[in-house]
Amino acid sequence: MKIILATHNDNKLKEFKELLKDTPYDCVSLTELGYTEAIEETGSTYRENALVKVRKIAQYYPQIIISDDSGFEVDALNYEPGVYSSRYLGEKTPDFVKNTAILERMKGVDDRSARFVCAMALKRGSFEWTCQGIVEGEVSDDIRGSGFGYDPIFIPRGLTQTFGEIDGVLKNTISHRGLALQQVLHFLNTHKQELSI
Ligand code: IMP
Repeated sequence: MKIILATHNDNKLKEFKELLKDTPYDCVSLTELGYTEAIEETGSTYRENALVKVRKIAQYYPQIIISDDSGFEVDALNYEPGVYSSRYLGEKTPDFVKNTAILERMKGVDDRSARFVCAMALKRGSFEWTCQGIVEGEVSDDIRGSGFGYDPIFIPRGLTQTFGEIDGVLKNTISHRGLALQQVLHFLNTHKQELSI
């Protein structure tokens, strides 16, 4: 069964496809649907932004729509970049520049606690539901590995490698997005009637 993923972000699409691989569900992105308009994130929380996206797309498509809004929070930086993670230092600024700036601000800081947060919203018709996944960890001392966004400067709790260094399958099992999607899958499986599945 095809679910619409309300995003234009190919990295997210790739992660979702991998996460849904062994389930009865598959996802199609807005780009694949030919919906090219950007959706402005007008909310002040992850949940609000996730809802903004599904509500916008539900105006045009009757299928189940899911969206995520995620961000990286660093305790010592007042939880920045947080909900503004993709816009931190400007939307078009390369990830490497953003990561370098964060490491610079963290120089000499003892408390390196940080986390990734992901809110997901699901909508079909008038039915709406949200959930949230969080992965705790800390900011690394240097940029390590590849991945996207803040992956190369985040070490999840219990590991020594950054998200940019670990295998994608492992990242999906412990990541904020993976944890939120597990909740979505459970919800889909337990609310088939309400969702007309
Ligand atoms: P949005 O959810 O599209 O608003 O984007 C959130 C931003 O947070 C992304 O552009 C990334 O910079 C960052 N982000 C979210 N999830 C991840 C992740 O799994 N790895 C690295 N960065 C992420």
